[in-house]
Amino acid sequence: MNKIAVVGAGISGLSMANYLEKHKIDYHIYERRKKEDLAGHGFLIPQEGIEYLSQIIDPLLLFKHGNFLKKYIQYSHTGKKLGEKDLNNVFAISRHSLINLLAQNVSPGKITYCTTIIPCETQNGRLKQSDGTYLDANLAIISDGSRSRIRRSLFKDEKMKTVRESEVVNIIKDKEIADTIENDFIKFHHDQGGLTFGILKLSDDTILWYSQFDNQKYRINECSCDNLKKYMLEVFEDWHPLVSSIIQKSNYDNVHLWCVYELEELNPFYKNNIVFIGDAAHPLIPFTSQGVTSALKDSHVLTKYLVEENNVTEAFSKYESDRKPEIETHIQNGRTLLKQFLLPTDQHTDNILPISYK
Ligand SMILES: Cc1cc2nc3c(=O)[nH]c(=O)nc-3n(C[C@H](O)[C@H](O)[C@H](O)COP(=O)(O)OP(=O)(O)OC[C@H]3O[C@@H](n4cnc5c(N)ncnc54)[C@H](O)[C@@H]3O)c2cc1C
Repeated sequence: MNKIAVVGAGISGLSMANYLEKHKIDYHIYERRKKEDLAGHGFLIPQEGIEYLSQIIDPLLLFKHGNFLKKYIQYSHTGKKLGEKDLNNVFAISRHSLINLLAQNVSPGKITYCTTIIPCETQNGRLKQSDGTYLDANLAIISDGSRSRIRRSLFKDEKMKTVRESEVVNIIKDKEIADTIENDFIKFHHDQGGLTFGILKLSDDTILWYSQFDNQKYRINECSCDNLKKYMLEVFEDWHPLVSSIIQKSNYDNVHLWCVYELEELNPFYKNNIVFIGDAAHPLIPFTSQGVTSALKDSHVLTKYLVEENNVTEAFSKYESDRKPEIETHIQNGRTLLKQFLLPTDQHTDNILPISYK
């Protein structure tokens, strides 16, 4: 029987653990952060992602922790309506809630926090913990995120680049604003392109807001809370009053600035006894809203082949063949959405949803 190590307890690592649990396959997760450290942002999850989540989390419990969005409405930055579309069962949930729900099914003995896993440069393919001990495993599932250190050490020629879009994300409690936006996903776009402000409701009294900006045009040199607040107040000063009031009212203690990365070309999804899932295999830019669903599908498909195949290499190979074509589609869709985001709104094609569908 293979001894399985899972590296990283984000959405991919934890969903992998849930699928392995379902099939009674033993594993151990190694995570760099402290258990309670969860940077705050949230996810839009299309219906397909909800279907995969419902296989591993009680759907009623899941639905209590987030909100289904009904309509996507686009406005110009001054409030002129540009278009709207119905959203087909798109669910919004905070990262914090989703990680906690996924972690509930993992027994504390199967996860070690505060340990960074590093590749051993002298013994190709072996992994060790920060204290120098080698991982006790003969199969490693790597889910350590878009900037995966293990992936970079195995595929030294890969070209990783910063995407021309960054995001400031915040979650605030405000019942009045939550009531105003109802269950709509509202996004304001600067007429000249390269700057948006999105708002959506996570629960009756909690909203998530985010600003996407062209990081060549809008530069933030320092990302302390005070600096981010100053930047937001300046940049959005003359926007629709809903935007400026949210920015004014927000507490910035947990605000987060995200830089986004992508690979020029995907690497293989595995090498020897090491296999990659989620952002570690294929960073996806946020415009696609497919990161979580892809992570869930990776975990589901990889588990299926690990169960069906006697040979691990065969399982990895089938997993890659199954998943890569769909991921390539999301990468192309993400690039199209990024191009459109950078253009003035009068050059946008008709009301593209901020979600990539295959
Ligand atoms: C601003 C923003 C908005 C987004 N919005 C959406 C959205 O609306 N919908 C959606 O589906 N997706 C969205 N995404 C993408 C989504 O966040 C990711 O696809 C998803 O979180 C991937 O999860 P992951 O587990 O693969 O990686 P991560 O979430 O990055 O998790 C990696 C984990 O590995 C740990 N780790 C890292 N290195 C090591 C190491 N060496 N040893 C041990 N542990 C390690 C980290 O601490 C972390 O816990 C968004 C992303 C961003 C940046």
